[in-house]
Amino acid sequence: MSNPGPSKESMERIRRLVANYTRKSGTTTHPDPEVTEAVVLGLARHLDELGKPLCPCRFYPDKQQEIKRRSWICPCDEMQIYKYCHCLLFVTESGLPITEYLPPEHPGRDAYGLVRDPTPDKGRLLKHRAEERERERHARQS
Ligand code: SF4
Repeated sequence: MSNPGPSKESMERIRRLVANYTRKSGTTTHPDPEVTEAVVLGLARHLDELGKPLCPCRFYPDKQQEIKRRSWICPCDEMQIYKYCHCLLFVTESGLPITEYLPPEHPGRDAYGLVRDPTPDKGRLLKHRAEERERERHARQS
């Protein structure tokens, strides 16, 4: 039997999350709707499986443990601190993730160069937690 996919309820919850968070953060979804749909499906699957929208673009040795840490529950710490979405769910109109606020040695800067934030007055509600985030990123390569 084929996999039925995520529940309708979870898909709707994630679509609402995406609509609300693009508005709040001043970002847009990717110009290729298939990119967005793949991430939405992954988030909805995690919502069904774990009860939380854990980022679908990463590998986790233990998903339950990861839920307790909270760093990768969407919108994740990197999004709320740096406005950087490595899944390309929350991006600029040209489909690039914002990298302007990332530390210079962050892999996102290597991958995309400097991408300026077109709406600097929006988002980054957790920007005061950047030092804490960097300690975590180095301590567990996360
Ligand atoms: S990188 Fe962060 S903001 Fe982007 S989809 Fe994953 S959890 Fe959400």
